[in-house]
Amino acid sequence: MARAYNFSAGPAVLPEPVLEELKGVLHEFGSARAGIMEISHRSKDFQAVIDSAEARLRRVMGIPDDYAVLFLQGGASMQFYMTALNLAGPEDRLDYISTGTWSAKAIVEAARVCDAVDIWSSKDSAFDHVPGPQDILPVREGAVAVHYTSNNTVAGTQFHALPAVDVPLIADLSSDICSRTIDVKKHGVLYAGAQKNLGPSGVTAVILSPWAIARSEARGKATGGLPSMLNYALMVKKGSMFNTPNTFGIFALERVLAWLEVRGGVAHFAARNTARAARLYAELDRSDFWRPRARPASRSEMNIAWRISNPDLEPIFVTEASEAGLLALKGHRSMGGLRASMYNALPDNAVDVLIDFMRDFERRHG
Ligand code: PMP
Repeated sequence: MARAYNFSAGPAVLPEPVLEELKGVLHEFGSARAGIMEISHRSKDFQAVIDSAEARLRRVMGIPDDYAVLFLQGGASMQFYMTALNLAGPEDRLDYISTGTWSAKAIVEAARVCDAVDIWSSKDSAFDHVPGPQDILPVREGAVAVHYTSNNTVAGTQFHALPAVDVPLIADLSSDICSRTIDVKKHGVLYAGAQKNLGPSGVTAVILSPWAIARSEARGKATGGLPSMLNYALMVKKGSMFNTPNTFGIFALERVLAWLEVRGGVAHFAARNTARAARLYAELDRSDFWRPRARPASRSEMNIAWRISNPDLEPIFVTEASEAGLLALKGHRSMGGLRASMYNALPDNAVDVLIDFMRDFERRHG
């Protein structure tokens, strides 16, 4: 069977040329006379890969030189705990903007080590929006930082301006990293699981400001030593290689970033993502048959979530779409409905094929 258009929320579609490259290096990587997964992470060949991955991420995101870039394991979920552990002690306040399942999970983990609460939440309206410029964010006196989830993969919402606060931001960028530009300097920590816009699962990009690294060092001193695998300052010192990293995952991530750079970098993809999300939202707004979930000002360009006015039709939609070569359009299990994840690597015509399919579906079932 042919490859389908893959709208999976993650792990997600990878660029076709990168998949071709990956096939080749499994047996033979450069002059190593062994495959990419078979060489030491301490070898010169692998060091060149991780150095290039870091250099590319710095270029495409505009990461300042004094920030550190790490490639860790444990997923974004480990960062929920690790950020708090490295930035805050039991007396310290970390404030959270709660805009969905993943921010709620981040708060639970942070509350294990510090005074972490949500200062703003859209839970009462099924997470259908994020705070806008008109919303006051009641940051607590003395708060160390404010955490937000840049794009909410499940609810299909996205911040279109940074939260306006006077303390460093911590951002979970898992589902929109490198899909648009971002002002890195406003952040103390940025993190993202790779499995949506950067590569396969098993690698997490973590970007740390000098302030965050200094706080990690201070937390280490205050506690008599943070656990090594959870210690930002140690990971920076060891260049992400305190232990064996996910060598294949980092290689794949480096290739995805090369693919992205050759095509014009984040600016190119941002314009394309905006245009094609607008096409799909226009279709959802065109007819009462569809019910987009997110409020217009909060709509995500990466994960578009909607319902059908008659929800009984949703499972039929998912099955028929899959038969028509449009994969993984079922909404997250916690929300139901439908969702199209449209990461950088999704080909443009996938969106047009989806819209044609939707029109035909409406004609037949509307
Ligand atoms: N944050 C966001 C925004 C996510 O979408 C996800 C996963 N879908 C996570 C965190 C958790 O990521 P991981 O599975 O890498 O821990």
